[in-house]
Amino acid sequence: MQTVAAFDRMGEENAFAVLARAAALQATGRDIVNLGIGQPDFSTPPHIVEAAIKALRDGQHGYTPATGLPATREAVARRTLSLTGVEISPDEVMIMPGGKPTMFAAITLFGEPGAEILYPDPGFPIYRSMIDCTGARAVPVPIREENGFAFSAEETLSKITPKTRLLIINSPANPTGGVTPRTEIEKLVAGLADFPEVAILSDEIYDVMTYDGERHTSLLTFPDIRNRLIVLNGWSKTWAMTGWRMGWSIWPTGPEGGNLYDKVRKLAVNCWSCVNTPSQFAGIAAIDGPQDRVDEMLTAFDSRRKLVVERLNAIPGIRCATPKGAFYAFPNIADLGIKAKVLASRLLEEKGVALVGGPDFGEFGEGYIRLSCAASEERIEEAISRIAEFVEEESGGR
Ligand code: PLP
Repeated sequence: MQTVAAFDRMGEENAFAVLARAAALQATGRDIVNLGIGQPDFSTPPHIVEAAIKALRDGQHGYTPATGLPATREAVARRTLSLTGVEISPDEVMIMPGGKPTMFAAITLFGEPGAEILYPDPGFPIYRSMIDCTGARAVPVPIREENGFAFSAEETLSKITPKTRLLIINSPANPTGGVTPRTEIEKLVAGLADFPEVAILSDEIYDVMTYDGERHTSLLTFPDIRNRLIVLNGWSKTWAMTGWRMGWSIWPTGPEGGNLYDKVRKLAVNCWSCVNTPSQFAGIAAIDGPQDRVDEMLTAFDSRRKLVVERLNAIPGIRCATPKGAFYAFPNIADLGIKAKVLASRLLEEKGVALVGGPDFGEFGEGYIRLSCAASEERIEEAISRIAEFVEEESGGR
């Protein structure tokens, strides 16, 4: 059978392969500490679950509009106003089946052979995978440790050519935990005035996950780029709802916005019809209900993050910058003299610690590993003791 080449160019997300291998080892009776997956280890708050159950009991199990229930889109508009101070219309909001479909939609809207798309490296692996799939040239923008894992406006702008159609940015970032300061984003937006044809996809899915007084800057706060800005967001991380497949995005509308919203609406009609209805009711409850469970989760991530940094930095050969956002740590392991993916695989097989090698997030991820703080402090301590033991055993022979 002959299938189209685009599917052969598509990549994967190795965190899922690590999860599968960790589960296989666990099934043999091994004690595995899983710091591999980017999924909060908290339950969805009960009032959100109840809202979905109630919706089903009330008979809410038919199709909704392809763009999402008006009430869910209105809730997103309220949320956006309260977090960013920016008033948006519910008619700019698309309810999506998770965060990834917004990436898919944005990248397939702009990617084709001959086009170039800029993306952060190290960064979420699906950006690169989907760019490759479209046949566009994937142009990495290096995200550097010496820059606090923020992106550099100057370096980003320097990569733009007449072929550039889309620029993808992500702050707070996966896998580095970097948060780009507002001043740098201002520089980027000012520079983008010279490239009015370039659209921007801002992945803001970790928007509330910042620490040490750091503040997330939404690209929505820059009116000059609104007619070419796509904002990706969703419920997965903030409310521990990864398996619900609930995301939202904000799109330019009308002819001056390239009719992007309407194009994505058509994609939804052709592909998923609508996001499942009870989940959309749960999404409203998440936004409008009490946020105490979110606050508790963020407090836990903050304290785990400090623990991870302190313990990793005590291991000779490892240097871990303090992540300012998301729930990952991205320590530099170059001095250990082991390739990052080999280290990740040996830690899993030999020590039962699941984590992801930096190169799974792009070529500039070599020399790093990603630990997700989605485990209790006790389990994190256990994982890092095992890493320390591994490093000691390896260096013992030298
Ligand atoms: N964007 C970033 C930066 C992520 O880290 C993730 C998930 O890990 C997503 C988007 C995708 O989220 P979802 O699971 O809702 O598709």
